[in-house]
This record gives sequence, structure tokens and C-alpha cells, in this order.
Amino acid sequence: MMVFQSVDPMNGKERVLAALNREPVDRTPVCNPTSVATVELMDLVDAPFPEANQQPELMARLAATGYTELGFDSIMPVFSIIQDSSALGCKIQWEQKDNWPTVKMREPIWEQPDDIQVPPDFLTHRDTRCVLEAIKILKREYGDEVAIIGKTMGPWSLGYHCFGVEPFLLMSLDDPGKTKLCLDRMKEATIQFGIAQVEAGADAITLPDHATGDLVSGEYYHRYLRDLHIEFAERIRIPIILHICGKTEDRMEYIAQTGMAAFHYDSKNDPSESMAIMQNRISLVGNINNPETLFAKGPEVVRQEVNKNMDASVHLVGPECAIPLQTSIENLKEIPLAVKEWHQDHKTN
Ligand SMILES: [Zn+2]
Repeated sequence: MMVFQSVDPMNGKERVLAALNREPVDRTPVCNPTSVATVELMDLVDAPFPEANQQPELMARLAATGYTELGFDSIMPVFSIIQDSSALGCKIQWEQKDNWPTVKMREPIWEQPDDIQVPPDFLTHRDTRCVLEAIKILKREYGDEVAIIGKTMGPWSLGYHCFGVEPFLLMSLDDPGKTKLCLDRMKEATIQFGIAQVEAGADAITLPDHATGDLVSGEYYHRYLRDLHIEFAERIRIPIILHICGKTEDRMEYIAQTGMAAFHYDSKNDPSESMAIMQNRISLVGNINNPETLFAKGPEVVRQEVNKNMDASVHLVGPECAIPLQTSIENLKEIPLAVKEWHQDHKTN
């Protein structure tokens, strides 16, 4: 068990950044590398979807509730996974307040490596600019006290969006060379958007790359993504939090080799087993279950899952992925409460 008592009280920003570097903290930070926006929070501050994904003031206002209302140590304004894909030219189904915007993947924009182009207006497009402006607003208002986390999508996820999931997966089976060429061209979008968010003031950045447990194997991660992820860690010069959903223990060894700061991991993975694989080479953040626990159960089950992560010395605690929009505020507030009480109960004098 880590000893916390020798560390002076920290604010949220110091706490998150220390934990991402596996340095001592006064208490475990509560961190959301992905969205904690809910319909209830949208109503509270009058910043609903889809406008809160398109207008920087609304995006910043809704994101800030993660800190002001829920008491998390981080603010993450990039709720969706479509902002960069929209700027690349994908068609978007924007939906309404109670539903996530999605890429219309049945209308893919690319088929061949030569089709891949990062448009000249990629960083000035409404939907990427919205993110950059929101980060600037949040940095100005909360940047001294809480960690501002951005998000740039990895090339595997962009492949799903721009080629369609099925065509992209089929290509990866049929033609590894062509797939690697595609990933290599798409990675420029990941890096450009990532660096722009660093310049806008992000303290850390989430990089979702959906080589998820149910769709591809650990061997796939090694073949296609490990080296690209090493390159991201070298070129985007703030702590990167890799996000992959599902059961991922079969690729955690490779993920630990990337030099990224943290891995945002799913509740399908056991906290202690995951910590044992990572061997403190990368921080873990997560892994409170969304669809069953946060969405459908009550605070006492949330607390049990928090405690399981705390007992395993997981570096940062939070939801496993973007939370369902109908999640109750009560369940979300339970996460920081449970973390603080765990520390009360484990004081070493
Ligand atoms: Zn996820």
C-alpha cells in the first residue's frame, strides 16, 4: 500500500498530474479521461447536446460541471468521439440532448490509402475548433486548480469512422501492408489535433484507439498499434491516456511498453491483475462499470467498485468509459466521496 501522509495537500491538477507520472499524491485523484456529461447536468447549466458539441462556450460550461458539481479532479470537454472525424469529412448524425452524436459509418469517405487526406481546414473546422476554444476557456477559468484533459482519436478509431468498421477490419485481415499504410497516413490527424490541444492549454490528453477486446486480439494490437502509440508518446508532449474498451489484459504488456502516461481500462479487467501486468510502467485509470453499476445500480455498489480499485493501488479512479447520458448525479458524486473515505479508513499514523 502506498503511504500518502508525507505529501502536502494538493489541488486537483497537481494530484492528477502526479498520479499520471506515478509520483506520490495526497490522495488518489478522481479522474474522467472520457465524458461525464449527463442530461441532468445539461439541464442544470443549460448546455444541451448537440449544441454542447458544437459551441465552445456551451462545451466548456457543461464540461466544468464534472468539477463544480461532481467534485472530480479533472475536466474533460470532448464528450463525443466524432469531433475530429467530422473535421476529416465524415457525415455526422447529431441527434438530440439524450443521445450521442455518431458517424454515419455506412457512408464511408475513404476506400484506399491514396484517398486519405487531412484537409487543410482540419484544425479550423467548427467541430475541432470548438474543442480547442473550449480548452482555452477552461484553462483560463479552472487551469490553476484542476487538470484539463483533451482528446484526440487514434488511427484505428479513425479507420472505423472513415472506412467503415467492416471494410476496415476486412482490410486488416486481407492486407496488413495496406492497413499499416492507412494507419500511418491517418496518424497525422491524431498528432495534429493532439498538438493543437497542447497549445490550447490541455494538461493531458486522452487517446482512444478502439482496438477493443471484442473486435481484435492482443496480437493485432502488437502488430498494428504498439509502435504508432510509442510515436504518439514521443510527439505529443503532455501525458497521454490511452483508452481502449473491453477486456484488454492480453495486450496490457504491449501497452505498458508505449511510454504513454496512463491506460484507461474497462471493468472487464480485474484491478489487481491489471496492476500486476503493468508493473508500474504506466498508470491505470478507471474502472467503475458504466452500464450496470453507474447507470443501473446505487451508490453502495459504486463504492464497492471504487474500493476494489483503491485496494489494488490503482493510480486514478473514475468511470471506465464515457458514461451513459442518463446516469444519476448521485452515483457520480459517490466516486469522490468513496475515495476520500477509503483514505480516512486507511490512515497510517
Ligand atoms: Zn470506451
